[in-house]
Amino acid sequence: MGETKYIFVTGGVASSLGKGIISSSIGKLLQARGYNVTIQKFDPYINIDPGTLNPYEHGECYVTVDGHEADLDLGHYERFLGIETTKANNITTGRIYKSVIDKERRGDFLGKTVQVVPHITDEIKRNIKLLGNKYKFDFVITEIGGTVGDIESLPYMESLRQLKWELGQNALCVHLTYVPFLAAAKELKTKPTQHSVKELQSLGIQADVLVLRSEHDLSANLRKKVALFCNVEEEAVIQSVDVPTIYEVPLKMQEQDLDKTILRKMGLPAGKDPDLKAWRTFLARRAKASEIVTIGLVGKYVELQDAYKSILESLSQAATYNDRKLKIEYIQSETITPENIGEKLGKVDGIVICPGFGSRGIEGKFVAAKYTREHDIPTFGVCLGMQCLAIEFARNVLGYAGANSVEMDEKTPYNVIDIMEEQKAVTNMGGTMRLGAYECVIGKDSRVFEIYGQEHIQERHRHRYEFNNDYRQEYERNGMKCVGMNPESGLVEIVEIPTLKWYIGTQFHPEYRSTVLNPHPLFLSFIKAAIDK
Ligand code: GLN
Repeated sequence: MGETKYIFVTGGVASSLGKGIISSSIGKLLQARGYNVTIQKFDPYINIDPGTLNPYEHGECYVTVDGHEADLDLGHYERFLGIETTKANNITTGRIYKSVIDKERRGDFLGKTVQVVPHITDEIKRNIKLLGNKYKFDFVITEIGGTVGDIESLPYMESLRQLKWELGQNALCVHLTYVPFLAAAKELKTKPTQHSVKELQSLGIQADVLVLRSEHDLSANLRKKVALFCNVEEEAVIQSVDVPTIYEVPLKMQEQDLDKTILRKMGLPAGKDPDLKAWRTFLARRAKASEIVTIGLVGKYVELQDAYKSILESLSQAATYNDRKLKIEYIQSETITPENIGEKLGKVDGIVICPGFGSRGIEGKFVAAKYTREHDIPTFGVCLGMQCLAIEFARNVLGYAGANSVEMDEKTPYNVIDIMEEQKAVTNMGGTMRLGAYECVIGKDSRVFEIYGQEHIQERHRHRYEFNNDYRQEYERNGMKCVGMNPESGLVEIVEIPTLKWYIGTQFHPEYRSTVLNPHPLFLSFIKAAIDK
C-alpha cells in the first residue's frame, strides 16, 4: 500500500464504553484484509507512564516486549491482532510535555515562546505519524483516552483537527458514544450522542463514523435520525450492542460493514470479505464449552477485575482451547488464614497466585501456596506469585522460619528473594524495574520443557526482586527445581515441583503473550491439569 492511513478513535457521553475493543476490532478486520496494522493509545494524564499508577487508579499495567509499562488497552490490541506493540504505541501527556521541555532546555526552539499550539500539538502529531513514517504501517489506529470535552484531551483533539486537515482522505475519525435506555419512558435516547458529536464539531472535528454503544438493539430509524443530526452517512452509523464475549465484537462490526465503510471513505478498494475462519472457530468452541473449570485467583485486588486483566484473558482463552467454560473464584489474600483455607479452596480446580507489590495480603498467599502444595492442587505462581511459592517452600520445607523477600521484610534472616545488585542504587520508581522481554533457557528434563516444547524462550518481566541463587542447591535437593534460567545473568526464571501434578512459578509474566489465536502453552497446560485433577 502507498501512504499510511490514520484512523482516530474518540469517545463521548461516558468513559469505559470500550474504545479499546472497538479500536482492536477495526484493526482486526483491516488486518484480516491483508493490511499491516498497528494501534496506539494516547492517555491524557501527566504520569510519564502507568507504571507508577496503583491498579485502583488504572487497572493492570501491561508490559511491551521493549519494556514499556503501558495501558491495559495495549493488551487488547495484542490479543486481538497477535501483534507486538512497543513504547511508541502508548503515549501520555506527561511524555509529550517531557519531550517538549527537554527540547526547550536543549535550546532547540531557538528563543521562541514554547506553547501548547503549535509545540505540544506538533509533538503529538509527530508521535502519531512516527508509526507511519518510521515503521511503515498501512494503518495506524490512534485511540484517544478520555472523553471529548475533557480539559485534558483538548491538545489531542486539536492535533486530530490539524491532522484531518493535513491528511485529507488519509485520516478518519471514528467516534464512540452511548445510547442509554430510559426504563420509565421505555425509550432509547440519542440526545447525548447528538451533544457529543456537536462537542466534537465545536473543536473543528467532524466524525466520519459513529459507533453507538447500547444495551439494546437500535432500530434503523433511530440510526437514520442520528445520521441526520450528526452529519454522518447512514451506513456509517454502527451499533455495538453488548455481546457475551468481547471477541465477538469484530464479527458484529463486520456484519455492519464497518471495515468496508472505512475503506471506501479512505479511497481503498474493499474486495472480498475476509472469512476470519480461525477467529470464528475459536468463538464457536467458546460458545459450545459448557463444562466448567474453576480457578481460584489469589490476590489483593480481587474486587477489581481490571487489575489482573491479562491473567483473566489468558485463563479464559486456555479454557476455550480445553473446551471448558472458565469460572473464577476471587480469593482476597488478606482474608486467608490456615483455618479457612480448606474451605476457601474447596471448590477450585487450581489456583493462580497473582503478581503484586508490597506486603498487603502476602501472608495469605503463603498459606494458599502451602495448602495447594500439600494437597497437590494445580498451582501457578506469577511473578510475586512465584516468589511466594519459593518463600513458602523455604519456611515449611527447608525449615527457614521467617524466610521472606527483602521487599516484605528488609531484615529477614533468610533472604530467599532478594533485591538485584543493580537495583540497589535505584532511587527513582518510574521505569526502573527489570522490564520487558528477556531470554530464558529451560532445562530439558523439566515439566516446563515438555510444556513449551522448546529450550529457548522469551518472556516479559516487571519486577525488582529475584530468587536468591545462594539457596538454589538446597531448594533443588529438597524437591523444588530451578528449571528456567536467564543465560546472561544466571537469574532463576522458573521453579517447579516435578513430583506434584502442576506446581510452577514464573518470575516473568506469561500472560502478556497469550493471544486469542496463539494461547500461551503454560496457561493451556495449567488449565488442562486443573481439569484432570
Ligand atoms: N514485587 C515483586 C518484585 O518487584 C513482584 C513484582 C510483580 O509481581 N510484578 O519483584
